Amino acid sequence: MTHEQLRVAIIGGGLAGAALANALVRISHVDVHVFESAPEFSERGAAVGLSKNAQLALAQILPSGTDMLEKAGAVPMNSSRVILGSGPEAGTIVLDLAADDPGMIVHRASLLRELIAPLPKESLHPNKKLTAINPNESGVEVAFQDGTVYHFDAVIGADGIFSTVREHVLRGVGADEQSSASPAGFWDCRNVVPFEKAKAALGEEYFDVDRQYDWVGDGAFILHDVLEDRTMVQCVISGVEKDASKDRDRRRPLTREALAASLSSWLGGPIADGMISLICDQPDLSGYSQWEHKSTPTYVRERVCLVGDAAHATTPWQGAGTGLAIEDAMVLGALFASISSANEISAAFKAYDLLRRPRCQQVIDSSRETGLILCGQVDLHADELRELLAPRWNFIFGLDMELHKREALEALRTAQQK
Ligand SMILES: Cc1cc2nc3c(=O)[nH]c(=O)nc-3n(C[C@H](O)[C@H](O)[C@H](O)COP(=O)(O)OP(=O)(O)OC[C@H]3O[C@@H](n4cnc5c(N)ncnc54)[C@H](O)[C@@H]3O)c2cc1C
Repeated sequence: MTHEQLRVAIIGGGLAGAALANALVRISHVDVHVFESAPEFSERGAAVGLSKNAQLALAQILPSGTDMLEKAGAVPMNSSRVILGSGPEAGTIVLDLAADDPGMIVHRASLLRELIAPLPKESLHPNKKLTAINPNESGVEVAFQDGTVYHFDAVIGADGIFSTVREHVLRGVGADEQSSASPAGFWDCRNVVPFEKAKAALGEEYFDVDRQYDWVGDGAFILHDVLEDRTMVQCVISGVEKDASKDRDRRRPLTREALAASLSSWLGGPIADGMISLICDQPDLSGYSQWEHKSTPTYVRERVCLVGDAAHATTPWQGAGTGLAIEDAMVLGALFASISSANEISAAFKAYDLLRRPRCQQVIDSSRETGLILCGQVDLHADELRELLAPRWNFIFGLDMELHKREALEALRTAQQK
């Protein structure tokens, strides 16, 4: 089969854009370029958990995926241990999640560095903020804030929750308030602290074995896990947020007193006091409102499509956002490898939408419901919590990647016949 060279622009060089670039760069008939608005390709924020499905999808994109995670300092978790953090049963273990299929915890900046490293320098374009998308008969024109304009056969938006590409894709197709990013009903605050400091503050017993600790209690949730080759510990406090502001700047100033008030019924228990002191040990103590896309009528418009948070921003309660982005990349990689001309791109994007949208929407809805359970909006008894929580991750971890790709290719063939 002869192939046309397909020019593909990825807008946004976060984890989704970088994962997708790795999937496309391996296809000889695709010429991929990544445009990032920031002056360099970098990630802020703490860690990301890569569960079994994310690791399997990554292995499909990058044969050296396991080595790459090792270079990024990823730490395999023995399990995610859920424990009660407040109330009469405080300290009782609820369950060990994913004990058979451990996740990896990796610092976001290190993961992005290792995803960017294998990409050719000439395909990476920092300081390029997309301002407009203009489809024409031969493809799609993209315009940037610096006045430059380029022409591509396809454009893929990986430009995050407030995506400009999303606005283009959803214009005039029945998008409503539900399709704009909006508060999900939770807040969180984070810090990454040295391993020894965390051990001293929280107790040695939580650091004998590498696992994620999830503390469930009255109106709030606490998490800690080990990263950066066991040198650092990620610490998180979250809670239910009522009357969330609609301000897109989701950052709020936070004080020790406010944290203590949110965790008042946890104080004196096994975890809250030590965690509050670790979280407060940072210069700009801030809380963040968690936002999501409640529904999305489509991820594609002709030769333009969306991946990662631009398509399906979700709350972090099931640790699945990056995993979904890596699955998106795997599926688009398989589809692009199977087409040979620019005329087939919109069929490939239709197949992508058909397959990916139900999967990602299920995660968004399930994650929000899981957040309510983990923030103690249910009876706080270990037995009842175990029953509620134990099955919630099965559909996320259990995706058969080979079958998912095959289904995408079948959907492509069907779309090509129409
Ligand atoms: C608190 C929190 C915890 C999380 N924990 C987990 C977890 O444990 N496991 C997990 O799998 N997921 C987790 N997630 C989700 C995960 O972080 C995201 O799903 C993932 O990082 C999405 O990356 P992205 O590349 O789609 O978006 P982003 O990281 O937002 O990247 C978008 C990129 O696009 C660029 N950009 C934006 N606009 C433009 C423009 N106009 N032109 C050019 N470039 C542009 C931005 O500068 C940015 O670099 C968590 C998320 C949050 C908020």
